[in-house]
Amino acid sequence: MGDYPLDELGGRTPLQAARIPTIRSLAAAGRTYMVRTAPDNMYPGSDVANLSLLGYDPREHYTGRAPIEAAGSGLSMQADDVAFRCNLVTISDEHMQDYSAGHISSEEGRLLIETIQQSLGRDGLVFHPGVGYRHLLLWRDGPAQVTCTPPHDIAEKPIAQYLPHGPRSDELLQLMNASRRILAEHPVNQRRRVEGKPPATQIWLWGQGRTMHLPSYNDLYGLTGGVVSAVDLVRGLGILAGLKADRIAGATGFLDTDFDAKVQAALDILSTDDFVFVHLEAPDECGHIGDAALKVRAIEAFDERIVKPVWDALQKQHEPFRLILCTDHRTPVSVRGHTPEPVPMCVVSGPLAEMPADAAPFDESLPTPDSVPLAFEIVRQVLSSAQRTKK
Ligand SMILES: [Zn+2]
Repeated sequence: MGDYPLDELGGRTPLQAARIPTIRSLAAAGRTYMVRTAPDNMYPGSDVANLSLLGYDPREHYTGRAPIEAAGSGLSMQADDVAFRCNLVTISDEHMQDYSAGHISSEEGRLLIETIQQSLGRDGLVFHPGVGYRHLLLWRDGPAQVTCTPPHDIAEKPIAQYLPHGPRSDELLQLMNASRRILAEHPVNQRRRVEGKPPATQIWLWGQGRTMHLPSYNDLYGLTGGVVSAVDLVRGLGILAGLKADRIAGATGFLDTDFDAKVQAALDILSTDDFVFVHLEAPDECGHIGDAALKVRAIEAFDERIVKPVWDALQKQHEPFRLILCTDHRTPVSVRGHTPEPVPMCVVSGPLAEMPADAAPFDESLPTPDSVPLAFEIVRQVLSSAQRTKK
């Protein structure tokens, strides 16, 4: 949700322009902070940021993005496996026209990746279809040291300077180039061209890493719980943390997601467990698309259709609870990629006897101290205090 002030929003950020009455009330009732979700020298990707929001120090645990998504897809990795994220992208005129091949559907993506697997897969190098444009490659003793660029960070830029480089990058380039020939006249792409949609012109490999190990919530805090998210990355973090992470039917990772299903899934987990982590992807995607108005709408939907119903349900239970609200990182509309500045966080304890009459800011204008806390430090405090309450 984080962003910069935008002319088209009258000099306000999307969070400032959005109508988010519940969030602003909670900010008045609770405590607000500016936090860093990515430690210095770590890229503020959703992987690092959400790991941090789950209370883990990324410097200690992070191995790469793809191993987390592999866990989210239920793929088990061996110690010698290297996982790569495999996007279906649209390259036009050697520019990154679309990192998502027009948000290609899961069904179309699966057909394309299956064809790639038939042509390029072999023992020890296996392509696995995922959700939408997001797929995976598991590569035994693959080139873990290569340097890759996330395709969503180079929207509309020439790809030449962002291709994989470093040790064994030639092996990646070979696969990526071969995929161009394989996908060029694929029936899925022929149909997409007829429908005026961008074709998936090739695969883009990035985010590699070896398998990741996290101490579980149960071991750390004596707490059980789950995550509710459309994206395998966040579900994967949940699985690695020993949390429930079922796929939610109707959760899409965009504005057309089934909000009610996500809220219900969260409340179902809370009816049996201590903790739930609810993640909404749409504001980030709107930042990548570069659409300020759509981003404002996505933030308003988060307030009205996620925060409000979850808060109301918690209030009705008449039991002590803690709610943390946060944005995982900034995806400024003007940048169309992630940036590392601090983001707002709010911690509120309930139930409240009554909602505060006033509203308080929950946006990028919150005071930023010289030494900005890391998000996982605050989350750990909250989880530890929940552990004490439980005992
Ligand atoms: Zn993003």
